[in-house]
Amino acid sequence: MKKQPPLILIIDDEESMRDSCRLILSKEGYRTASAPNGESGLQLVQELKPDLALVDLKMPGISGFEVLERAREIDPHLVQVVITGYATVESAVEAMKKGAYDFLPKPFTPDELRIIIHRGLERRRLTVEKEALEKEKRLMEENFITMVTHQLKSPLVVILQYFEVILSGVVKDEAQKQEMFHKAKERLEELLELINDWLDIARLDKDQIKAQSKSISLFPLLKELVEFMRPLAEEKQVSLKLFPPETNALVWGDGETLKEVFSNLIHNAIKYNKPRGEVRIRIKEEDQWMRVDVEDTGLGIAPEHLPLIFEQFYRVKRNNKEEKKSRGSGLGLAIAKKIIEAHQGRIEVTSQLGQGSCFRIFLPRPSSASPSPN
Ligand code: ATP
Ligand code: MG
Repeated sequence: MKKQPPLILIIDDEESMRDSCRLILSKEGYRTASAPNGESGLQLVQELKPDLALVDLKMPGISGFEVLERAREIDPHLVQVVITGYATVESAVEAMKKGAYDFLPKPFTPDELRIIIHRGLERRRLTVEKEALEKEKRLMEENFITMVTHQLKSPLVVILQYFEVILSGVVKDEAQKQEMFHKAKERLEELLELINDWLDIARLDKDQIKAQSKSISLFPLLKELVEFMRPLAEEKQVSLKLFPPETNALVWGDGETLKEVFSNLIHNAIKYNKPRGEVRIRIKEEDQWMRVDVEDTGLGIAPEHLPLIFEQFYRVKRNNKEEKKSRGSGLGLAIAKKIIEAHQGRIEVTSQLGQGSCFRIFLPRPSSASPSPN
């Protein structure tokens, strides 16, 4: 469904004001509606659910201040901009207190109106997005137990099903039986991996990482991982490229846990790639950081999923059959983030749906993180 342009409601008793605002705004591609007084304005807020309202402060009947307050009760996300011919500091402060987002003194130019509307709508977009994200996170937290049990239960159910069939004696063919055992074993292995991943998170010990930290050269560590992953990449027809750094690329960290981080990132970059795709790994110095980019030319991640992928058990739901098949527990990035943060580093991601993603890791270099020699 195509998204409709934003709807702007103008509440003003002056007809010329309503008409000129509507004219300017419809030229910008917005939908508009107007009301000559507060009462009918509030009714339209209720009926039309506008994105933004321009409210005149001085009108016969109920005042603009009251409109602001009551409109906010109807829709807390409604962005309200006050227009008035006698802007005083007091009235501005009063209007802000009642929930106005901004103030536009009369007379104003079309440009001033356009700018303020644009800014107001941007603010609404951000608030709505932020709330949706928070809601999703809250839901994930509330459903945590359900998610964990589901993750543990579903492979067990499958395995039990295989056993039922085999024990019932209906499968006479030895090869078929073997295959069922084989599949059951695969699911058991996955289950074990899931439990191990989860234990990793629970056991991850910041102090231990700190105590075990030492100067580590990133290039050999990454080279070893890349060689280890190469067969998997070849199977997926993905080429793996690790670019040698210009410096010796030392970081202050714990090799074992860092391997886990990069192994998951590279694995993801292969797993969520396309045939004949590429994975490029680059190491460079940036201020006090050593920065590693793991970039792929794969499926990419839509903006609405992006802030959630570091949450435990979060997996992007994909429609494509091939993409759906990819297995995983949704813990890899949550573990990676925890490990990097225990190193006092950070992890960032940018992604374009259908084009690819780039994960950037920033790790402290020895000189800035290690204790001084005496
Ligand atoms: P596992 O626990 O086995 O790593 P997973 O790969 O599903 O499972 P994460 O590594 O945490 O879990 O990734 C979370 C989700 O983020 C994935 O399900 C995937 O949808 C998305 N994702 C991660 N990396 C990429 C990438 N390079 N390209 C596209 N999507 C990605
Ligand atoms: Mg993963």
